[in-house]
Amino acid sequence: MSGTRPTMLHAASVTKRFRVGSRFRTGGVQIVHALTDVSLDVFPGETVGLVGESGCGKSTLGRCLLRLYSIDDGRIAFQGKDITNLSQRELRPLRAEMQMVFQDPYSSLNPRRRVGDLIAEPLRVHGKRSEADVQNRLRELMELVNLSPDFLQRFPHEFSGGQRQRIGIARAIAMSPRLVVADEPVSALDVSVQAQIVNLFMDLQQKLGLTYVFIAHDLSVVRQIATRTAVMYLGGIVEIGDTDTVLHSPAHPYTAALISAVPEPDPHGNIRARTILRGEPPSPTNPPSGCRFHTRCPIAQERCGVEVPVLRPLDPGRRVACHFPLQSGEVAGHG
Ligand code: SF4
Repeated sequence: MSGTRPTMLHAASVTKRFRVGSRFRTGGVQIVHALTDVSLDVFPGETVGLVGESGCGKSTLGRCLLRLYSIDDGRIAFQGKDITNLSQRELRPLRAEMQMVFQDPYSSLNPRRRVGDLIAEPLRVHGKRSEADVQNRLRELMELVNLSPDFLQRFPHEFSGGQRQRIGIARAIAMSPRLVVADEPVSALDVSVQAQIVNLFMDLQQKLGLTYVFIAHDLSVVRQIATRTAVMYLGGIVEIGDTDTVLHSPAHPYTAALISAVPEPDPHGNIRARTILRGEPPSPTNPPSGCRFHTRCPIAQERCGVEVPVLRPLDPGRRVACHFPLQSGEVAGHG
């Protein structure tokens, strides 16, 4: 809940379903329960990391938060303004203030247009700027993302993956947004380039006072950039809190499993005991009853299969959706 702090973004009980298949095909129409009852507050100047296995709903949540997708239930407010039911036309004036950076910079950039035109597009569409102003802003943006202004005349295929992501970021910040949702922005890049792009995000946040929702499946990336981290499983947030707390002493057995999937020595040099996840995530077309993690949870009990655990405060700065949260340092399924 937002308490008394003003939120940049407030999402309450957001539910999103997709219809897949066709009634003329085998299997008929199925409903994918992509998000169920997801609540999230994002405060000005912070970075909220969203993590979880692929298919957990993190990208869908990112798109719903910016209202790139409509939602089936719940409420979303941006800077105090309810945007839940605004049409795309009504959202247009707000688009400048909330932007998205995509995973694959190449597919989000039109290959036939010069980089200068691609970055200038939002400036020309939204802003009433003179052409001289646009050119000045372009040079400023290239400087901000550490690219030479000479590159403005080139085409996207002439750049490396990391440079293309810098172009994607320049385009996203062109209109001076307040909020940026970055959807796996470094996942497609080499590890060395990933670090540079993460540093660029952090540098821009400081310079421009940006607020981020940063979606990633790599915990080390989230550890580096996120102030708070939300862990998602099968369409819901199962744990959220300060990044250090969540990633160093997870309380949800799923968080513990995610962390232990990355072998890392503890401070004493020992490799941590591992919580092995059984099986694949269940299908979001037919999610399990009760706690959605109960079919894979090493400490599940009878209650878990029937009663949905709500996200509730566990300790200051952290909330967990589990009937039997782990104590600090405990490893699920290892006594
Ligand atoms: S509620 Fe039960 S099944 Fe779900 S994570 Fe907690 S212990 Fe495991």
